[in-house]
Amino acid sequence: NGNGANTLTFGLIPADGIGREVIPAARQVLEALPSQYQVKFNFVHCDAGFEHFQKTGTALPQETIETLRNDCDGALFGAVSSPSHKVAGYSSPIVALRKHLDLYANVRPVVAQQSKTASGQPVDMLIIRENTECLYIKKETQTKAEDGSAVAIAERRITEHASRRAGEMAFQMALNRHSVREKRSPGQRMWKGLPKVTIVHKSNVLSITDGLWRETIRHVYDTNATYRKNVLLEEQLVDSMVYRMFREPEVFDVVVAPNLYGDILSDGAAALVGSLGLVPSANVGDTFVMGEPVHGSAPDIMGQQKANPVAAIRSAALLLENIGFPAPALAIYTAVDDVLAEGLVTPDLGGKATTQEVTDAICKQLS
Ligand code: ATP
Ligand code: MG
Repeated sequence: NGNGANTLTFGLIPADGIGREVIPAARQVLEALPSQYQVKFNFVHCDAGFEHFQKTGTALPQETIETLRNDCDGALFGAVSSPSHKVAGYSSPIVALRKHLDLYANVRPVVAQQSKTASGQPVDMLIIRENTECLYIKKETQTKAEDGSAVAIAERRITEHASRRAGEMAFQMALNRHSVREKRSPGQRMWKGLPKVTIVHKSNVLSITDGLWRETIRHVYDTNATYRKNVLLEEQLVDSMVYRMFREPEVFDVVVAPNLYGDILSDGAAALVGSLGLVPSANVGDTFVMGEPVHGSAPDIMGQQKANPVAAIRSAALLLENIGFPAPALAIYTAVDDVLAEGLVTPDLGGKATTQEVTDAICKQLS
């Protein structure tokens, strides 16, 4: 984007609620990266969100889309409040942003030194959720049965195109994340074999839709010698996937799922880690990446310095990792892990530290 070699321009979209507390925290951590990592940042503030809608009548200004598209190397999104009742003219800016920037996959690392399972085994997996189709095309109709009772029907769309690019992303990420994963938890890395991709589906029941999903990803693998040589491929029916994820999360590496299954799996996986305030995500396309903590705007704790900034800070690292800067990403992951291990944590994890204290400690650990 025409900014010197290692100056990255990031769009910051705090949006609503604690988004305005955790995005500045993530910014502070990026700015604290020591010079050895050779990355500097320009930050551009971008408006969006429900509050912006209430003020101006638009939840996602055109200017935000254009700034991100034309001037930014990546973006960090905070959170949007979802009004509990339907508000005329309002639709979620995050959904619109994903569409405008063609961010077709949501990527969620699930990492904990001690998972919330019976065994307390560490977990380090990456869930890739296809983000453009499946039941989320929202084509629902209601008709009547012969006896006059209501019948509701939802259409589910799976395409070869979307399945192929989700599959490609899974294999690429399995290869790329390997080095970061090895270094992050030496001796702890759970899945000990080659990088592995698990396809999630239910093609024993939905043989046409999930069948296409499964066949397409298998075909990507079968026709690529690099993947065949360096990545293992397996599959899990979604129900047994849930069971195994809670019983033995350590056997998974990269998991790729259609939109709905991915949504459910990744929220379930957040429970393995212990708090929503710890789980980052990235919205990824071929030309743009936007980091986003998994949690929402948490109006119940906003403005009280209680928000856990870790999910947003890890989202910043995930953004760096996914645009080709694994070394500073690893430094941030490690600093966060160290501060958590010290027990300096916000109230959601049973601690007393404030948002600012946790952020400052992570910055100090980095330098
Ligand atoms: P939204 O409508 O924006 O989704 P929500 O009320 O569903 O808002 P979430 O953000 O999804 O809020 O959070 C659910 C619960 O988890 C809330 O009690 C919230 O306080 C807590 N929580 C979420 N994120 C964090 C965080 N970063 N730190 C601490 N607690 C959090
Ligand atoms: Mg919520």
